[in-house]
Amino acid sequence: MVFTGEIMESLQSQYYHIAYSDLWNHFYNLCKQCDVEFKFGFDVVEAQAGKVDLDPVTISSSSGEEVICDIVVGADGNHSTIRKLVEERERLVLGEESDVEGSSESKPSLAPWIRISLPVARMQTDPGLAELSREDWWNIWMFNGVAYNCGKEGPDQYVLNIFCDHPRYANLQETDWSEETTSEVPELLKRVAEPQLQKIIELASSFQVTKQASRVLHRYTDKCNQVVIIGAAAHACMINGTFNSAIAIEDAFTLGYLFSRMSARNEIPYLLHGLGEIRQRHTEIVKASDSDVLHLLCMPPGPEQEARDALFKQTHREDSENEETLEFMWSSYITQFDYDAKEAVEEWWLNWMKPIENSR
Ligand SMILES: Cc1cc2nc3c(=O)[nH]c(=O)nc-3n(C[C@H](O)[C@H](O)[C@H](O)COP(=O)(O)OP(=O)(O)OC[C@H]3O[C@@H](n4cnc5c(N)ncnc54)[C@H](O)[C@@H]3O)c2cc1C
Repeated sequence: MVFTGEIMESLQSQYYHIAYSDLWNHFYNLCKQCDVEFKFGFDVVEAQAGKVDLDPVTISSSSGEEVICDIVVGADGNHSTIRKLVEERERLVLGEESDVEGSSESKPSLAPWIRISLPVARMQTDPGLAELSREDWWNIWMFNGVAYNCGKEGPDQYVLNIFCDHPRYANLQETDWSEETTSEVPELLKRVAEPQLQKIIELASSFQVTKQASRVLHRYTDKCNQVVIIGAAAHACMINGTFNSAIAIEDAFTLGYLFSRMSARNEIPYLLHGLGEIRQRHTEIVKASDSDVLHLLCMPPGPEQEARDALFKQTHREDSENEETLEFMWSSYITQFDYDAKEAVEEWWLNWMKPIENSR
């Protein structure tokens, strides 16, 4: 599939591959410019909510230090600590019996996501891999229940992502994402009938497994509307999906934009309710489309898989007769990208906050 000018126009936004550390540094510098104060090394172990709306929240760290907060934004990722307060509320609202899906440690997680990386320089020493690392291509090899997707990430790193959609991968152990791991790539992942992939795995300098619970939260706030979760803490969109980071950025923007329009403190519960309503709609669309893509890439052998392969082959042609195929292939990306976070807030405001303001 080629990202032609026409397709980029339909996506209405650019498509970037950015290293996590570059994105992190960019936001860090923006925050510094706004005099945001940082507290590094503060490992949150607990958040205690107040008893009634707008009571302060106490955040405790592993060293015993406490911070009293007016409001807490839990942007603490896939294994969020802050999420526990939101899940507590969810259980209260839905009833004790209806456990929050995936929230309990004993519940099964989604299939693992695997990431293997190696320096481009190392690829270039191997005649079989040099071609892959020279081009700005993303290659996908699709097998029964698993897909291997690789490409350059920046000028010097080459990355192989492995998407699993089969129970045989469920027992792979999660590794610590924050630390470079030198552990061996499991045999299960090495068993792949493709020499270039075997070589990439052989030369890998880092290997990581991330597991993600399949969470469904109906709200993103605690019972007193003092704690809100955003980003990976809230959504559990496909972690290696193309839109995951964008979801976190959209959440942050939506929260900020809603609060920038606040005129009185007692509007906070409405605004946080609005955040949930606005964001849920879009993330559910992204989740559904991610799950369709995963299924498409990891199809077992059979007529469906043959039809998929025939369809993929047609995407090499760009004539007008092929327009319908290209539309089908790109529709999931366009669905995810076709969203304006500012417009979404403005629409919600018009429907919900304007009438409240007018009635005062
Ligand atoms: C292997 C892998 C590959 C991915 N590939 C892609 C991709 O190709 N495209 C894409 O869009 N997204 C991808 N993602 C997802 C992307 O990284 C997340 O969507 C994005 O980072 C979410 O941002 P966030 O701010 O919500 O959480 P995070 O980026 O996870 O940030 C959470 C922060 O909270 C901190 N934190 C956590 N717990 C605590 C605690 N108890 N106390 C104090 N601080 C804490 C962490 O240190 C971290 O700084 C990938 C993720 C993984 C793991």
